[in-house]
Amino acid sequence: MSRMNSSSKAKRYRRSTANLNQTELVELISTINDLEFKQTVANKLVDLNRKHRLKMPKSLQAQICHKCSIITNSSNTRVRVKNGMIIKTCLACNHIRRYGKGPKFNRGN
Ligand SMILES: [Zn+2]
Repeated sequence: MSRMNSSSKAKRYRRSTANLNQTELVELISTINDLEFKQTVANKLVDLNRKHRLKMPKSLQAQICHKCSIITNSSNTRVRVKNGMIIKTCLACNHIRRYGKGPKFNRGN
């Protein structure tokens, strides 16, 4: 009968510890001022999220590059506004991310 239960005790325990670790790392990132250490913490956070399939918290989603997981700031990103949408280009890996509505906004309807 215990096999029928998809979420076993070990699985639940692993998920809860992963969530705890994630919140700890997020708090660390917001408090650190040292850029190098901040980057290593961000890499750890991305690894943890990939391993346990967790969502990146919204406060950090726009701050970390989705391709090379570098912490973005004004010196390593280019931000342009085009047709009402924000286009952020990572200068380290040339990854482009678009925010907000644009010319393709109404295509889904
Ligand atoms: Zn990048």
